[in-house]
Amino acid sequence: MTRDTSVQAPSAPGASAATLDWLSSPPPGQLIAGAEREGRAAELVTVLDPGTGNQLASVVAASVDDVNDAVHAARSAADDGRWSELDADRREALLHALAQLLERDADLVTELEALDTGKPRVQAAEDVQEAISVLRYFAGWANKHQGAVVPAPRQLHAYTTPEPLGVCAAITPWNYPLPILTYKLAPALATGNTVVAKPSELAPLSVLHLARLAVEAGIPDGVLNVVTGAGSTGAALAGHPLIDKIAFTGSTATGKRVMESATRNVTRVSLELGGKSAHVVFADADLDAAVDAVMAGIWTNAGQVCIAGSRLLVEKSIEEEFLTELTKRTGALTLGHSLADEADLGPLISAAQRDKVLHSVQTASDEGGNVIVGGQTCDRDGFFVEPVIVAGVPATARIAHEEVFGPLLTVTSFGDEQEAVAIANGTSYGLAAGLWTTDVGRAHHVSRRLRAGTVWVNTYGLFHPTLPFGGTGGSGFGRELGSSAIDQYTESKTTVMDISARSRSAKVEVSND
Ligand code: ADP
Repeated sequence: MTRDTSVQAPSAPGASAATLDWLSSPPPGQLIAGAEREGRAAELVTVLDPGTGNQLASVVAASVDDVNDAVHAARSAADDGRWSELDADRREALLHALAQLLERDADLVTELEALDTGKPRVQAAEDVQEAISVLRYFAGWANKHQGAVVPAPRQLHAYTTPEPLGVCAAITPWNYPLPILTYKLAPALATGNTVVAKPSELAPLSVLHLARLAVEAGIPDGVLNVVTGAGSTGAALAGHPLIDKIAFTGSTATGKRVMESATRNVTRVSLELGGKSAHVVFADADLDAAVDAVMAGIWTNAGQVCIAGSRLLVEKSIEEEFLTELTKRTGALTLGHSLADEADLGPLISAAQRDKVLHSVQTASDEGGNVIVGGQTCDRDGFFVEPVIVAGVPATARIAHEEVFGPLLTVTSFGDEQEAVAIANGTSYGLAAGLWTTDVGRAHHVSRRLRAGTVWVNTYGLFHPTLPFGGTGGSGFGRELGSSAIDQYTESKTTVMDISARSRSAKVEVSND
């Protein structure tokens, strides 16, 4: 299989000359032991602009042999100590160099990320800045995570050392390709691990550029390897016996398969999966701010976000007032191509995802929900669906439990705190929740009772490198970001030495013999 090079000048409305130049000669798809090459699989990965449906680039997917090569490259780099035994200061400097190069290329990577995912340019720019911050934050950890001297019995001198796990597989989705990879890559590299990354076949371009930058930064060959391909490439990686840890972000269904692979090889795994997060608004809230946050919580990235606040739970007494304002502001949003300045909202990632969302709108209506705004496709190229609000959704409805991964907000009202918590906790997921109230006691009380990895109070969707993030229940386990991430990529070694007088005299006797 050779890749399709017929798309010499891809149509990318609004793209800069530098982006068009990059797209006319994209990386071949695999980075293995510091060298770029095409994959050897029979399939092509064809990358589309979801805002037009046109092809942006294509790469030949990695075969099982390519995955094997990438894992062996990472294994050698882990075993010969070229990274883990490097001075921690040097690892820190190299991660900062990578962040610096990403900052240098921020405009290009922003456009690649916007074109590839369909999200508006401003949102893609925030993603790139987040990736830079995450790299810098974890660069700082390289020479700061340390072990401890253990207060063992006096005849012993004992200490612990945090050691890298070895080879980490990072399997990532298409909605936030760059930040989600850095959540895994940055702590893994800072603590001395080597990595094989597999970006989503639907949006691999920014990660392929990052791989180039890693080589340019001087990160040793084999420390970061990238393979591009679809589910079979991911499965070959997740099931490889020489992997020490799999860090996965994606759907709950795929996460279960990854966990099965991990079980077979006794591989550590962390899973950040789906969600059906509740955004709970009490009558005492700052309603103006709450409306904006509810909108950002569901319309950002056209709802294709694991933490999307896709269930609005609103106190009965303010339901009408709240929905009137929410509907008005939602109706004023502009759908558009990622590089069009006026775009508030982009398309869905693919035709399949668009059709899934439209099907969910139908399901919601069939279950008695009342579509109060949106829900239609648009008369234009690309995979667009108007943001849709479905009111009057019973807490028991399927649409209130199943993740849509699109711009669909369900609305359910509640009478009191007790009922709000019961509805919010009533799904199999537990990734995040939002809570709006001006009553401080209620904020803490309700937050404590919500089953979610993160509860945002009087804000929503706020990420920072210092804030641990991850789910519970069907949303997975393990925490990314913050100091928790360091524990995800290190294992503690205990060293115990007998320093008693008896052992010293035993040594003297031996030497006297
Ligand atoms: P999404 O719907 O967000 O794309 P997926 O779970 O399908 O979620 O995909 C997330 C990542 O997992 C992608 O990189 C995808 O190629 C990869 N993937 C898909 N199937 C498998 C599998 N069986 N094993 C490992 N990775 C997989």
